[in-house]
Amino acid sequence: MIPVKGYEGQKVAVLGMGRSGLATAHALEAGGADALCWDDGQEAREKAEAQGLTLHDLNKGNAWEDVAALIVSPGIPHLYPEPNKLIARAMEAGVPVDNDIGLFFRSFATQEWDNFEQLPKVVVVTGSNGKSTTSALIHHVIEACGRQAQLAGNIGRGVLDIDSAHDGEVVVLELSSYQTDLARALTPDVAVFTNLSPDHLDRHGGMGGYFAAKRRLFAEGGPDRAVIGVDEKEGVYLAGQLSEGAADDRVIRVSVDRKLTGPGWQVFARKGFLSEYRKGRQVGSIDLRAIKGLPGSHNHQNACCAYAVARTLGLAPRQIEAAFSSFAGLPHRSQLVGEKDGVAFVNDSKATNVDSARAALGAFTNIRWIAGGLGKDGGIESLRGDLGGVTKAYLIGHSAREFALQIGDLPHEICETMEAAVAAAARDAEPGDTVLLAPAAASFDQYPDFEKRGEDFSRLVQAVI
Ligand code: ADP
Repeated sequence: MIPVKGYEGQKVAVLGMGRSGLATAHALEAGGADALCWDDGQEAREKAEAQGLTLHDLNKGNAWEDVAALIVSPGIPHLYPEPNKLIARAMEAGVPVDNDIGLFFRSFATQEWDNFEQLPKVVVVTGSNGKSTTSALIHHVIEACGRQAQLAGNIGRGVLDIDSAHDGEVVVLELSSYQTDLARALTPDVAVFTNLSPDHLDRHGGMGGYFAAKRRLFAEGGPDRAVIGVDEKEGVYLAGQLSEGAADDRVIRVSVDRKLTGPGWQVFARKGFLSEYRKGRQVGSIDLRAIKGLPGSHNHQNACCAYAVARTLGLAPRQIEAAFSSFAGLPHRSQLVGEKDGVAFVNDSKATNVDSARAALGAFTNIRWIAGGLGKDGGIESLRGDLGGVTKAYLIGHSAREFALQIGDLPHEICETMEAAVAAAARDAEPGDTVLLAPAAASFDQYPDFEKRGEDFSRLVQAVI
């Protein structure tokens, strides 16, 4: 645990008693603060009490007296579409609002570090897609190269739940836009921006707010090194804004779209080959096609970002390549869950939006595509040009009929359930086909979350094969 500094003897309110809220409350107490815990849900409140935490009804009239700060969980809206009413009240009362990430950055370094040979470093990954894969890959590469690392944030443990740092350790944090938007301190050593596409726009008041939330990670006095995906205009803008000039190697530009040229530091992948250029010279390369855990150009983008981070930490291209080869991939992201008679079954349940589904569809050919669920605004209209590799769609869930109208002439079958879809796809599949679950929709109509949806798919595949 990282005890929170700066609130000794003071009252700090904590709103939301999920995984990060509970860890935050304990870390505040460990640092000598008085954590006043609240959650609108009774079950969550009971859980907090069972862990010995003190509840404090933030709805009461005098609830904000002497409260030094309010710490909120990422699931609770702080501005758009409307601020949560308790957050609004705290702001009215002039109480600073922060989150566990802000507390982490002000508390992580300790006096013990004075005796370390190599200072611990924090690497932060943000972006619309690929955050988890990139974070996990960075963590894997560092460990495989014999250095200590911890993984936290959206993936793994809550940030305040990690162990205090060892000499030379690297902490890798995956952060969402909600988290970077609110944190009052954000001082990573290395920050990564993978890509940007519309998502969660309701929480950010549109695309500008969404980009601004992610950009805070790179604000003045920000990271020593910034790894920026430049395949969208926002990435190009951000990289330009951060560099002092074309040769400034504080910024490492990443692309899977084009060969990057120029005197700076760049990592790009084309036709499955990763190349690193610095000062106009090629200094590293990796054949990514041979790496099973990272299929498709979207994963090559993740690989380029992770490679760039590893290089900033002083690792050599050959070491990184060896570590890539032993990366198994993450569950529910282009995960091969079974093979039979030349048919591959791939679980990409995490493809909850159109862009991630597009990435998964681009990574395979002869696809029997299982899609549908709770569709997002606009459905899958914008995927129409990306269905060239799909032989047939098997549509499930709430949006099955809407999706059927949006895929043009592509043969399809309304299956409603995952069970029917897996059975139909397995029945139709021929050797060389890939049965791909890439729903392009949220799971909440039929499952508690995308993990349960992916597990259901994997279980049904096992039964079929
Ligand atoms: P995040 O943590 O940002 O949601 P994940 O690594 O969990 O990212 O991947 C989420 C989804 O996006 C998966 O469906 C995955 O196949 C797809 N994906 C992974 N990396 C990328 C990328 N670089 N660009 C686009 N889609 C990606």
